[in-house]
Amino acid sequence: MYRPRRVLKANELVGVLMVKHYRDAQTKRPHSWLTMAPNPLVEICYAAGISTGYPEHYGCVCAARHVSSKYCEVAESVYTPDICSYIKNMFGYMMSPGESPPLGGLPTPDVLMVTPNACVEYFKWWDTLRVRLGKPMIVIDIPQVVETVDVEYYLDYVMAEVESAISETQQLLGVRVDEEKLVETVRLSDELTAYWHAILELEKAVPAPVGFNDLNNLLFLVTAMPGTPEAVKVAKKAYEEMKQRVDEGRGVVEEEKHRLLFFNIPPWYALGLMNYLEDRGAVVVLSDYVYHVWATIRLDPSKPIESLARKALSVKRADELLKVLLRDVKEYRVDGVIIHSNRSCRVLSMGLLDIARALHEAYGIPVLNLEMDHVDERVFSQAEVLSRVEGFLEMLG
Ligand code: SF4
Repeated sequence: MYRPRRVLKANELVGVLMVKHYRDAQTKRPHSWLTMAPNPLVEICYAAGISTGYPEHYGCVCAARHVSSKYCEVAESVYTPDICSYIKNMFGYMMSPGESPPLGGLPTPDVLMVTPNACVEYFKWWDTLRVRLGKPMIVIDIPQVVETVDVEYYLDYVMAEVESAISETQQLLGVRVDEEKLVETVRLSDELTAYWHAILELEKAVPAPVGFNDLNNLLFLVTAMPGTPEAVKVAKKAYEEMKQRVDEGRGVVEEEKHRLLFFNIPPWYALGLMNYLEDRGAVVVLSDYVYHVWATIRLDPSKPIESLARKALSVKRADELLKVLLRDVKEYRVDGVIIHSNRSCRVLSMGLLDIARALHEAYGIPVLNLEMDHVDERVFSQAEVLSRVEGFLEMLG
């Protein structure tokens, strides 16, 4: 049965910000490309007036515009098909000059800023970008917190890394990272984080005020624009709109039947899948990717360097993720799990089946495993996915 979906007005504002963000990337110098996983260099860029660009986000944009598969194919003429499709999308885009790219494209940066803390493919990818573009690269080395060791153990080291990255940025680009400006940027980043946490908290309401596509759209604020007043303004509007829905008992769909947990990055070219679920009263209210990767910790503006170091160290280990999800599944009243076995992101796919099995054993929640890719739609069969989803929903009742 088709259920009308409520549109979140704040999403339009996110769209406007996104267009402006790409326009700034194309017009404002200096310009930096950055890795997206909790990267403290983002706030440093905004404090120094450096425009930012994110090859990973550009992968989402290209997938949503259905050009990423073509870019992946182009990249495969040079690079192995077995790497992440964000990487292939970016190289394919760079190898396709003269075309009219989505959102006007990402112009060549003046510098590359990398934190290889969350993904094993980052370092090789960004080093190859460095060689191809002939641009300098600033790296903040962040140890993988893989053992049950307190984050404090790594803190001094990472703080020194952040400080040295600030000096390098100033020297390489001739900019100044003013202390007062950095404090204000960290304060804005923390204010955004506070709204983000409040937004995710509201999603516990039954019915859920927004759907998964809304959350993925809002995610742009915390991944690409932390430390900017514009992001805080839009997050505040989104929060107020959602709060009003919760207070009035109105959900994203009229009649919520099921509350789902979605594992891994969504297939950006097939976000209609979430609409398909919502049309049937099944709302994704929880996600490891949206809830537990970015903006997971509050920042203290009175200690900007320490806060940025803690942000860099905030990537969760698999055992921590399982612990929080065991709690979240209850609090968000999840009754079904969809796993996206992501063909080209092994980093986020590793251990997912084990986590889903643990959730199933703890709460008896049914699990659907879908083989897809986050960017490359050549491996996506809509008919097959929808038929499996339909069977899953019937099982949920
Ligand atoms: S492999 Fe996964 S974590 Fe790494 S860049 Fe690709 S999508 Fe991101």
